[in-house]
Amino acid sequence: MKQRWHRVTQTAMVAASLAAFVTGGHFAAKAVIEAQQSRQLVELTDVALRRSETAVDFGAATLDELARRGPLNCDPASLQAVRLQVYQRSTVKDIRLVDRNGSVICSAYSETLEFDNGLVNRPDMLRSDDRRLLLFRVDQFSGVALGVLRDVDENTSLVAILGINSYVFDIMPAELREHSEVLLELNNGSEVGQFSTKRHSEFSNLVSLGNVSNRYPLHATIRVERSALERWHTQAYWPTMLIASVLGLVFGLLLTRTTARLEGPIADIDRALARHDFKPFFQPTFDLRTGAIRGCEVLARWVREDGITIPPMSFIPLAESSGRIEPMTWQILAAALKDLYPRLREDKYFKLSFNVVPRHLLSDGFVEELRRIVLGAKVSARQVVIEVTERSEMPDLAKAAAVVRELRELGFRVAMDDVGVGHSGLSQIKGLGANIIKIDKFFVDTITEDASAIAIVEMLVRLARDLKMTVIAEGVETPDQVRALIACGVEEGQGYIVSPPLPFAKFDELLETSRTQAFAEAAVREAALVA
Ligand code: C2E
Ligand code: CA
Ligand code: CA
Repeated sequence: MKQRWHRVTQTAMVAASLAAFVTGGHFAAKAVIEAQQSRQLVELTDVALRRSETAVDFGAATLDELARRGPLNCDPASLQAVRLQVYQRSTVKDIRLVDRNGSVICSAYSETLEFDNGLVNRPDMLRSDDRRLLLFRVDQFSGVALGVLRDVDENTSLVAILGINSYVFDIMPAELREHSEVLLELNNGSEVGQFSTKRHSEFSNLVSLGNVSNRYPLHATIRVERSALERWHTQAYWPTMLIASVLGLVFGLLLTRTTARLEGPIADIDRALARHDFKPFFQPTFDLRTGAIRGCEVLARWVREDGITIPPMSFIPLAESSGRIEPMTWQILAAALKDLYPRLREDKYFKLSFNVVPRHLLSDGFVEELRRIVLGAKVSARQVVIEVTERSEMPDLAKAAAVVRELRELGFRVAMDDVGVGHSGLSQIKGLGANIIKIDKFFVDTITEDASAIAIVEMLVRLARDLKMTVIAEGVETPDQVRALIACGVEEGQGYIVSPPLPFAKFDELLETSRTQAFAEAAVREAALVA
């Protein structure tokens, strides 16, 4: 359940991270694309304005050129020269000589006058920044044009009529050309040039960008349909989204791993408890003289989901310090009792030992919970041994002794583990009142080489006899050690010489073979007697 919940939160975390990155990526990509689009549109309005200014410059240059040639009049030869100027400049449509009020005196192409819709009065014309020119709109029946006026003397002025047409304004990129209009207006708002492939009314939802000239009273505007803009230069969108998705996934996965790590090993223990991943392994204890199996010690193993088995020293200390040792101990004991139930029922002398840390032994309700579990498993208390290590100091010896007394009264047996290497002196061994002394592997290792090890083991055996305790030697690996231990008076052992700790199925097999062997041995002995 917890595991499934963990999966759900992990998936949710990855999904949330993905969503956040994709959303962020969407807005970032849009912002980048929009910034790029508006930069390009501003550049285009700049182009439109520069071209318009150049058209005005050409017009002004033409008028300068004519004014420079001397006094102007309307005789055919002069008009011929003027027409040549018009011919040479593509944007200049006509040149006129006008009086102070702006009334036309004569024109290069007098026919064009017929197209005019009347001329603007001088006060309504707009002055260029250098004050040399006046700009105004020329209304024509077929459209609009830009008029540029330059004074020649007190009475006369020259006017160039400029066509601001597609040549100047057809600047839009192909994707936008059908969906945009380019406008040139005087600063008083009157339109003097326009380019688009459709009529203004045919456009919908336009985005508008403008640019103002600092030399002439002109400004250029580009209007683009929003729908066309949304399709323009959007190539960056999907690659950006792809990158955002990958980043979102990577970030989400890293996040789950980091939080899992932050949750830490204690959360791992909790999950393992919930999944019952802590398993009892069983190591036999045996009669040192006959090798007959007398019982077993239950040793915890963490069998992880991936099949890796973790030894107890890698998790017992943390379980102890984080307060998980109690549920872990009960879980392992209950499982061990269940596994071993048939064997315990069959052989009333078979004993099962399990390890309890001092803190747990001293905790409230320990005895009651132990009874409840053992009773629940229908196992006799006489077959259960509680091993208490004396590796670390027993915090409250008096209380520990009281608990041990209570346990013994209920029929349980108590073993003092790791004797000889821990904190307790002989008085503590006496004081606790246990039934069994387990001699630490350290002495068994050295018993074949070191006389002082022999002396200590002999001393412990004597003490045990005095106190009516039994002795078990731990970590027996060789026949030499067996002989040396027997010589010291030790009767029982535990160690790799018979078997390492085994998972239940293997341990059960071991019991089975040793039983049939013992049966065979007994049968042979009996046969020998009869003979
Ligand atoms: P321990 O109670 O002294 O258990 C005996 C340890 O010696 C076991 O190590 C066992 O595998 C190892 N051993 C037995 N015979 C031999 C041998 O011939 N040679 C060698 N080299 N080693 C041998 P393990 O299983 O790794 O357990 C280590 C310690 O972890 C135990 O020492 C015990 O203090 C603790 N432990 C194990 N299971 C539990 C548990 O369920 N609860 C608590 N509180 N502690 C546990
Ligand atoms: Ca032990
Ligand atoms: Ca031990």
